[in-house]
Parts: sequence; structure tokens; C-alpha cells
Amino acid sequence: MVQSLDRSQGRAGAVATDGAAAPKTFTGNRALQIEEPLIFEMGQAGRCGVDLPEPPKVKDRLNGLRRGGEIGLPGLSEPQVVQHYTRLSQKNYAIDMGVYPLGSCTMKHNPRINEKVARLAGIGDLHPLQPVSTVQGALELIDTLAHWLKTLTGMPAVAMSPAAGAHGEMCGMMAIAAALDAKGERAQRKIVLAPESAHGTNPATAAALGFTVKPIPANDRGRVDLAALKAALGPDVAAIMLTNPNTCGLFESEIVEISTAVHEAGAYFYCDGANFNAIAGRVRPGDLGVDCMHINLHKTFSTPHGGGGPGAGPVVLSAALAPFAPYPWIVKTGDGWTVAEEGTRVAGTPFGRLKAFHGQMGMFSRALAYIMSHGADGLKQASEDAVLSANYVMAALKDVMTPAFDGPCMHEVLFDDSFLKDTGVSTLDFAKAMIDEGYHPMTMYFPLVVHGAMLIEPTESQAKEDLDQFIGALRSLTERAKTGTAAEEFKAAPRFSPRRRLDETLAARKPILRWRPSNNPPEGGPMRQAAE
Ligand SMILES: *Cc1c(COP(=O)(O)O)cnc(C)c1O
Repeated sequence: MVQSLDRSQGRAGAVATDGAAAPKTFTGNRALQIEEPLIFEMGQAGRCGVDLPEPPKVKDRLNGLRRGGEIGLPGLSEPQVVQHYTRLSQKNYAIDMGVYPLGSCTMKHNPRINEKVARLAGIGDLHPLQPVSTVQGALELIDTLAHWLKTLTGMPAVAMSPAAGAHGEMCGMMAIAAALDAKGERAQRKIVLAPESAHGTNPATAAALGFTVKPIPANDRGRVDLAALKAALGPDVAAIMLTNPNTCGLFESEIVEISTAVHEAGAYFYCDGANFNAIAGRVRPGDLGVDCMHINLHKTFSTPHGGGGPGAGPVVLSAALAPFAPYPWIVKTGDGWTVAEEGTRVAGTPFGRLKAFHGQMGMFSRALAYIMSHGADGLKQASEDAVLSANYVMAALKDVMTPAFDGPCMHEVLFDDSFLKDTGVSTLDFAKAMIDEGYHPMTMYFPLVVHGAMLIEPTESQAKEDLDQFIGALRSLTERAKTGTAAEEFKAAPRFSPRRRLDETLAARKPILRWRPSNNPPEGGPMRQAAE
């Protein structure tokens, strides 16, 4: 049957896409941007990519629980399956396609040597339940990475198992809670201080562990207000969670005063090290008085992320917190390694176990490949280049956009929306217009301390001419916005993408979480365009 795929009918994920900008096509495709239905909407029942023999008839022992009806798997040939997933894979914008300036997320190039290493049979084919005697090399790899992380941070211990930055926060704060417990101060110290600019995971972690979060304001330089911090410190404070460089892309220049004040008050200093990529090889957090800090391997040491893949968030610990590090501990014994699991005697009192097995081996091998291929000088240069790129973008745009704070930035540059004042164009409109120019938008409306925030992190891995084109696109957009007559055009953006603006509020409030064969979303369902 010849059928035109009319995507304007209200099927979840595929609604009208045509603005004035693009003509309707028979297929719904736009040039080589191919529409893609759900796999359950494709194919025909009974079609199969492989020939399987009829299963032997056996008497089941399921006591009547055996499935009676069809299982409902999509019926597709192998080429159909391959085409489906290949087309889906092309729908993601990716760092391998172009500039991906998502501030705070550090979308940097993942060198291919990492992938080669991660796929070596002795690394890629490991099973976590293999006998320890057969995985000595893998344990050595983890231990070698641990050594580098301790060396780069100037900290004596590291817990390798946390699976992401937020998980690392959990780990570090649990170590702090355990240390307070050991001192008999857990009940008395219930408050965790977090700057207003903190990543949302910081207060969430503290709250999840039963602490009360108290926000600390920023000063007009975008740094923690030291006087306000000192006023908030007291015998009821467990810890501060501070990001450095902070989420405004600025180095906390009073960090030593902060750590001294925190320690004098008997509290611990948790550093959110997600932005370590700006200072690795230049600054050792241990020298700044940090008690524990997670490192996002997937940000600082490349390794892919952002597509929902695994991350890794090892936590470096000071001598005071090291004894509480969670199981498993990897212990050097003579000429080999063992894994100390729950119940094994170790030189400390681990707070428990945080995760099955030993951590994200695929991330460990990639991060170690990144570290060893760069070397100490290369890591330092990567940090410096990341900072240089961000300052280059700031310098090239500061006459037309408005940097949120004076002075140079670290690895990311923060603009506010004052340059859009009276243009009728919002941060959101501006970001959507970037999509038409072929750019993934920067991080928007974060951090919250700045109005209409736009946070750009170019990373060290973009070529100068690519940054120049990005800068050119933003200059052109600011010029168009400032004509004062382009608001309509901006509100209609993106005009060239297969999907335009979705009603994100409705999608969040009334999510349709399950596809059902005859149950298309009602008219005006969450995926309908707001513009309609
Ligand atoms: C990315 C980030 C986190 C969270 O890390 P995940 O790996 O996404 O859990 C925490 N804090 C800051 C400042 C970050 O940039």
C-alpha cells in the first residue's frame, strides 16, 4: 500500500513540522532527514530477520502461567532493523558532529585511542565475577588510574566505585556523615551549606542524606560571599559543598580562606570537582584544604557522556575521610592485587558499599588512556586550552553580548540576557535560533544567580576556525535580535529542524510514558507543538 506518512496526526513524538520555511513532502521526510516511526509501528506480524527452527514441544512446568497470546514483538527484516537504528542514531546531535557548547557539561572530544584501549579483549571482555587471579591486569589498571587521580589532586585516597558525579557526591557526603558519626557529632551537625550557584545535585545529595541545606549568597563578583559564609558557620554545620571553579565559570579566589573557616568551625569541605577540567595539572585541590571531591571522569578525562551512557565519579578523600571509603578496596599484596569486599578487614571502617562490583571499567580504561596519552604536560595544556577557548569566546562576544561578571573566566563563559533587553527576544528564543544556525544551544537559565543565563563551554578540543564560525553565528543572531523587529522570527525558531517547539510544560505535567497500539495521544497531547 502506498501511503503518505502524515506526521501531523497526533502520534507521540511525530507531529506537524511544517512552518512557512519548508514545503510539505509526500513522505514527511525533509531532504535526507528521514522521519522515523517507533519500531512497534513498523513491519508486519510474523516477519523475522532470521530463520529459527520450530521449538520442540515440551510439557511446561509453569502451572498455567504460560503466556497464551502473542508476545507482540515487532516483525522486521534485518535490513529494516539496521535502517531503523541507523536513522535513529542520526537524530542525535553529537560532539562528533560539531561545536557542542553546553556549559557545565564539558562536551569534549573523546580521542579514538580511548576506544581502542577500551575494546582490547582483556579489558572489554571482562566479567566482574571472574576470579581475582584472572583479572590482575584490570585491578592494576584501576590502581594506576587511582594513583593518577590522587597525584593530580594531591589527595591520599580515592574511592573508585561511584558511577557518576552525583553518585560521587553521595559517596563523599556519606564519608563525611560516617566521620561525624565516629566523632559523635552526627546528631548535632545537620546543616550543609551550598552556594546559590551550586549545581542542583549538591543540595539534592545533602537533602537525600537527611541534612538541611542552607544557601550561601554570591557576591557581585560571582563568588561565594565570604562574610555570609562565615556568619553561617557554627557547631551545627556538617559541611560546605562548594564547586571550584564554580558554575559561573569563575575560580573561587578566596577558597583557602573558605576552607580554613570551615575547618575552624569543625565542618568538612566537600568540593564539587565536576569542573576539574579547567585546573587539572595546574592546581591540586588537596593544597586548597579540600576534604573530598568527586571527579567526573566523563568530563575531565573525556570518555563519552551526554547520551545517557555511563559516567564515572571517583571521589578523592583526605586522610581524615579515607578510612570511611566504601567497599570494595583494591589492595596491593606483594606482587599482586586483591579486592577487599564487605566483611574483609581493611585499615579503616568503610561506610558500606555504594554500587555492585568495582566501578565503571569502560570509563576507567578510557580515562587512563586519556591521561597516559596526554602525560602531565598534556593534561596541563588541555586545561589551559579549555580556559583559553572560553576567554576567546568571551572576548569576541563581549561587545555585543553581556558577560555576567567582569574579568576573565575559567573554562566556561557566562552571559546574562541584558543584551536582549527590549528586543522581545528571550534566552530561549535565542537558543532556539542557534539550532537553525546548526548549533546545539549553550546551557540556558543555569546558573540561577544570573538572569536569563547562557553558559558557553567550548572546551579545548574545537579548532579556532570552528570557534570563529560559532562566534560569527552568535554575532549575527545578536545583530538580528537588536534590530528590534526580529522578535517574531526568533519566536518561530527553530524553523529548519524536523521538530519545532514542543510544549515542554505539558509534556512534563502529562507525560505519556507508554506506547499502546491503539492509543494514540489525545488531541493536544504533550508532544503537540506549542506554536500550533
Ligand atoms: C555535571 C555536574 C554534576 C553532576 O555530575 P553527573 O555525572 O551528571 O551526575 C555535579 N556538579 C557539577 C558542577 C556538574 O557540572
